[in-house]
Amino acid sequence: MPQPIHPYSLLTDICQRHGATLVAVSKTRSPEEILAIYGRGQRVFAENRVQELVAKAPLLPDDIEWHLIGHLQTNKVRQVLPHVRLIHSLDRSSLWETLDTEAGRLGRTIDCLLQVKVAQEESKFGWEFLALREFLAAGRHLELPRVRIRGLMGMATLTDDRDQVRSEFRELAGYFRSLQEGSFAGDPGFSILSMGMSSDYDIALEEGSTMIRVGSLLFAPVAG
Ligand SMILES: *Cc1c(COP(=O)(O)O)cnc(C)c1O
Repeated sequence: MPQPIHPYSLLTDICQRHGATLVAVSKTRSPEEILAIYGRGQRVFAENRVQELVAKAPLLPDDIEWHLIGHLQTNKVRQVLPHVRLIHSLDRSSLWETLDTEAGRLGRTIDCLLQVKVAQEESKFGWEFLALREFLAAGRHLELPRVRIRGLMGMATLTDDRDQVRSEFRELAGYFRSLQEGSFAGDPGFSILSMGMSSDYDIALEEGSTMIRVGSLLFAPVAG
């Protein structure tokens, strides 16, 4: 019987072909499950809840790079900052200001992605792109130098309609390019487009994703 291919191998191959980064979404997974993927070579893991991230990070190896991908309440910023390398969910100006202040207290900077809303669902957090563009045009963020904006993050609508998913990813990729040529022109650090999860990472990569966030597919038990 041939060995079944582990999803980690499949996903790292695909990411390599696209020059993209695989973020392992470890929410709800135990330290043992995380260590199993770590043991295959994965170093970038993400949680969507602050509480879970700060509880797990100290139990796991130091060379893990933790990302926060879920909604961040302003009053949790101080708690999470020491543990995270990249926050994907910068979705409002008040959070931007708090992140700048708290990073300053620690004498560091914090890398963030601007979460932009492209899904149809009302529930999804994120900037409306027009509001984001106005905020950037006003230049207020230039007074918040400890927050380094590295790119955009977005989620497509949860639907079986692959054409809709593709058009939402294409919209987000268009926003990404327009900011690369606009407000972030000349900033090579603005280079990350975080889009794609277990159900739609293939479409996201075709539409220009540079970072996919995969949980259920990666941690699924391998058949066979
Ligand atoms: C849970 C989650 C993912 C991963 O979803 P899967 O379908 O398990 O791959 C990606 N991004 C965000 C923001 C999430 O909350």
